[in-house]
Amino acid sequence: MKPSKQVEEVLQHIRECSPGQNEFYQAVDEVLFSLLPLLNEDSRYREYNILQRIVVPERTVIFKVNWLNDKGKIETNLGYRVQFSSTLGPYKGGLRFHPSVNLGIIKFLGFEQIFKNALTNLGIGGGKGGSNFNPKGKSENEIMKFCQAYMLELYRHIGKHTDIPAGDIGVGAREIGYLFGQYKKITNEFDGILTGKGINWGGSKVRKEATGYGSVYFAENFLNANNDSIKGKICTVSGSGNVAIYTIEKLYYLGAKPITCSDSRGTIYHKKGIDLTTLKAIKEITYQSLEVYAKIHHDAIYIPTHKYPKGGHSVWHVPCDIAFPSATQNELTLVDVKALYKNGCKLINEGANMPTTPDALEFIKEKGILFSPGKAANAGGVATSQLEMSQNASMQRWTFSEVDIKLHQIMRDIFDTVYKTSIEFDSKGDLIMGANIAGFRRVANSMIEQGAV
Ligand code: NDP
Repeated sequence: MKPSKQVEEVLQHIRECSPGQNEFYQAVDEVLFSLLPLLNEDSRYREYNILQRIVVPERTVIFKVNWLNDKGKIETNLGYRVQFSSTLGPYKGGLRFHPSVNLGIIKFLGFEQIFKNALTNLGIGGGKGGSNFNPKGKSENEIMKFCQAYMLELYRHIGKHTDIPAGDIGVGAREIGYLFGQYKKITNEFDGILTGKGINWGGSKVRKEATGYGSVYFAENFLNANNDSIKGKICTVSGSGNVAIYTIEKLYYLGAKPITCSDSRGTIYHKKGIDLTTLKAIKEITYQSLEVYAKIHHDAIYIPTHKYPKGGHSVWHVPCDIAFPSATQNELTLVDVKALYKNGCKLINEGANMPTTPDALEFIKEKGILFSPGKAANAGGVATSQLEMSQNASMQRWTFSEVDIKLHQIMRDIFDTVYKTSIEFDSKGDLIMGANIAGFRRVANSMIEQGAV
């Protein structure tokens, strides 16, 4: 059977057996079609049915989370942990707490995580989890109660040699602290079963900054390969969470000017450059909407979502040299990417997971805009998580600069691997293909060596 036919059969099969999981189909479509040059060259992947095997998680856990709200009433949410692939090491990937979470979203994230983790060249498998719990509007006490209730079930499925979750949307240092405390209470063990821990109790320096810093390091490598650099560039960034904030911070360090950020309610455009101190205060301390930013900085423009262009997001309609989508999936549409192109944007560097819609990706390829896929560009977070695990296992504590130097080197190595793989398959500069083939090849070859279990 021709590889393209086999890919189509696999895609049809997952649609039939996992109905309604649109984000998961989108992620699998993108990966499998970009593997065709490799599948045409090496028949082993077909002989061992690697495609059919790799799209099915090794284990999926869905559980009920009952927790007590401040009014003394029980609330019920769904909890998930998808343990997708342990081929390269224990399952590793974040937890997302957001009302939009469902099985399809966790599966898409877990699937992407397999290849992202493979690209780091470290010994980590792929997984993802979370809940449809909405942290917005909840008190500190309610968030703690929810985290404790969630861990009451999750603890059975994780372990330092089995599965080591971390943060994602809605799960930062505070939530990791509550989850860790509960795990310790239940098991009576102080173990490195989560990453993103507090610096005082087993966390690593730079973990908080790692995804954003790594994303900027990746962009710098890509620009350098094109005889350019980040210095002096005008940058638009979406989101105002962990990834966005530390992308903005590193952009300033490297001499660029980030002029936007956004949240689920609106976009800030601050022509003279985003004020990082204000942003951190609003999003890391008081947990407020970005509207507050414009009340503090009267020269900044706040655009609420109801004023966004039809089918698009205002953040991408501000002229820039580089765009850093760093909020969530499918936040960069065809309408948006046309505006970026018209305004002369040179590079789109994905900080979020799958932020670009499939039609926007087609347009990007057609117009030859430089594009860094998230599974490579945002891999700095998980790579530094692995550095946290190494420090926990060896009881060492590395300094900020020691970890940052390692992160910098890992991002360079990921870029080199992805870029060289794109050249090997005659698609110089198509980093989507480079990332998917390089990640897949490492996992698939290891599966074959392990008996493709
Ligand atoms: P945070 O929760 O810290 O921040 C998410 C940001 O995105 C917030 O500003 C949030 O706004 C905004 N956002 C979330 N959902 C939507 C939506 N539906 N529409 C508009 N804005 C939205 O998450 P992170 O910064 O950790 O994660 C951002 C992205 O990066 C995600 O795709 C995540 O999977 C990915 N990622 C994260 C890593 C990490 O280490 N944290 C590692 C690799 C990838 P609001 O506050 O209003 O909800």
